[in-house]
Amino acid sequence: MKKIYLAKAKSQIARHNTIRDINKQIVLNYVRVKSPISRADIARETSLQRSTVSAIVDELQNEGFIEEIGAGTSTGGRRPTLLQLKTGIPVAIGVDVTPRLTTIALADLGGNVLDKKVFPTSGDLGYMNEQILTNVGAFAEQHRNANLEVGISIPGIADPDVGTIVYIPYFGWSNWDIGSQIERKFGLPVTIDNDANAVAVAELWFGDERIRRTRNFVMIMVAEGIGTGIIIDGQVYRGEFGAAGEFGHMFVGENAPVPCSCGRYDCWEAHASEKAIVARYASALNGAANPSIDIDRLIELARNGETNAVETLKASAHYLGIGISNLIVGFSPQAVVISGRIVRAWELIRDEIQVLAGRSIRNELETPAIVPSALGDDPTVLGSVGLVLANKFASAGN
Ligand SMILES: [Zn+2]
Repeated sequence: MKKIYLAKAKSQIARHNTIRDINKQIVLNYVRVKSPISRADIARETSLQRSTVSAIVDELQNEGFIEEIGAGTSTGGRRPTLLQLKTGIPVAIGVDVTPRLTTIALADLGGNVLDKKVFPTSGDLGYMNEQILTNVGAFAEQHRNANLEVGISIPGIADPDVGTIVYIPYFGWSNWDIGSQIERKFGLPVTIDNDANAVAVAELWFGDERIRRTRNFVMIMVAEGIGTGIIIDGQVYRGEFGAAGEFGHMFVGENAPVPCSCGRYDCWEAHASEKAIVARYASALNGAANPSIDIDRLIELARNGETNAVETLKASAHYLGIGISNLIVGFSPQAVVISGRIVRAWELIRDEIQVLAGRSIRNELETPAIVPSALGDDPTVLGSVGLVLANKFASAGN
């Protein structure tokens, strides 16, 4: 699903009927990004004929992608009718499996979650399979007339071309065919991807405006572990077997506060993931920490100025910055986006990350923008939904 960039859209406007679908995709994306917008404005900005825009808008309205929202301000003649994405109608079911929780979310074209079911993720694959089928089935049944598609985000390796889950290391599950079960049982198309890739796609389409305008960026997701999604030229870089982006296991220093999920104490994840941050806090208190403290509480304490919590986040930002610095040297991205709950403490970690990111042999070059995610606390939920929406926006009319 390659993203078309509006800044370059003019040169991409198709002149032949055979590639009218590309024009349709461009019009839809103008409405998505610039709404409310009138037909005349779309025509002016794209240099498409006004009649072509009107015909495409009619099609998109009939297909339920966009709607009219009344009249805008007149620039002389009749007041133009404004268009926007049609929201409030379910189009996507996101299935987000994380080590702790699994969320089945029903969302509209704007990425708004209309309804959701959340349950603790179990290590029992049979139970998980059943729960997911039941909940997806319930949404599909309630919205039988909707044009639903399913996106599945998993903390492991997925093959999006074949639609299979190859391996989820946290639970040791391999070759899980939940995608084809959903397709067979409910007749809904399914897209599956690794959680970090799914979040990177969501950042690309629905994230901070600086990221949406970017063609090359790296997304770092700080959660139970650390995941990275790499967007090159508007597409996820998956590598052979879909196994790229495992930078959570890059060597960033010894003697981490917790073992990595792979068992080593040298990995980035062992130094800068949520579990590393919580363990670092416990050792700052000489092990006297409340055993029930979690990352949410720790961030809250830090934001209220509790010294140990503040110092813990800054020390963790240091390690986050080391990893980011390495990624910048390797990829030379336009931007780096950081997602996860740690972003809530952005003011406390920003400077440390920035200093480390700027400290490399690239010191002659400008440091890429380092941006906190705009996707909120549960980026992977939006990631699962985003897999479907990105498909719809990238393939409208095909
Ligand atoms: Zn590791």
